[in-house]
Amino acid sequence: QVKRSGKNAFRFFDPELNSRHRDRIALENDLRSAIARNELELHYQPQVSFSKRSIVGLEALLRWNHPSLGAVPPGTFVQVAEEVGLIGEISAWVLERACNQISEWQRNGVEPPRMSINLSAHDFLRTDIVDAITACLDRHEVAPAALEIEITESIMMNDTAGVASKVRGLRSAGLSVAIDDFGTGYSALAYLQKFPVSTLKIDRSFVRDLEGPMTNPIISAITGIARGFELDLVAEGVENIEQADALRTLGCDVMQGYLFARPAPAAAAEAWLRSPELLFAQPH
Ligand code: C2E
Ligand code: MG
Ligand code: MG
Ligand code: MG
Repeated sequence: QVKRSGKNAFRFFDPELNSRHRDRIALENDLRSAIARNELELHYQPQVSFSKRSIVGLEALLRWNHPSLGAVPPGTFVQVAEEVGLIGEISAWVLERACNQISEWQRNGVEPPRMSINLSAHDFLRTDIVDAITACLDRHEVAPAALEIEITESIMMNDTAGVASKVRGLRSAGLSVAIDDFGTGYSALAYLQKFPVSTLKIDRSFVRDLEGPMTNPIISAITGIARGFELDLVAEGVENIEQADALRTLGCDVMQGYLFARPAPAAAAEAWLRSPELLFAQPH
């Protein structure tokens, strides 16, 4: 098979590329039917107060249980879903599932802490995104304060879609809004004024560097910003006790990471909610 390509015309089609292309098309097709086949699942990872030894939040993280590929991580399919226009349907499923889980826990007498879901920049192109979210909360009789929407900094870079007013809409409806992976994108401080978010999540790349001496200009700067703007702060990717101690010293008490728990299905999350001490039981 030959293919015309600009520079070296009539280059032979790269068989490896060809098979990757086929994989990608197969993935797209499978993804289209993943919701209908009930292959999506939410896992939950706790956010803990290190000093209080309590759970202050849960982040819902999407999992795709593919019939032949097994567990496909969101890193491989969320971007595909965005590119082929499936993300809206997936985000709607995530929102629905999260609200349903919150109300189920409430009915079972487990008072869940605030739950966070991740939305994509594409979701904020929808003019009715705020209404869709509040309608879902209403349907499940879940208080808006029980839900936090995580968005990335990239969403704030241009505001042609009126993202700032949508963030304001979510906040005035009573939801929390977090900036995920804070510090890794293009974050001008002015944005924090224009986008009235409630939470900053320190990206795990900064937490990873927190070994040894307990000074760290980036973490210190971010904790300063959070204090100045009166925002909640969560450190992501906390894997060991040295990092947790350093974060405490630097002024960040709320942490999420493998040190406490890996993301896990609802049943495991419910066990943590009933017995938070499980998360602090590991030998330090
Ligand atoms: P994120 O929102 O920043 O989520 C945190 C990621 O870090 C998760 O990966 C989590 O499993 C992982 N993580 C947590 N603690 C640790 C740790 O201590 N060490 C390490 N090495 N990793 C840790 P995951 O679940 O694979 O998700 C990856 C990304 O996919 C998420 O990053 C988020 O951007 C996206 N994503 C996940 N669920 C959804 C969803 O429902 N919708 C959308 N649009 N994106 C999602
Ligand atoms: Mg997140
Ligand atoms: Mg993150
Ligand atoms: Mg991340």
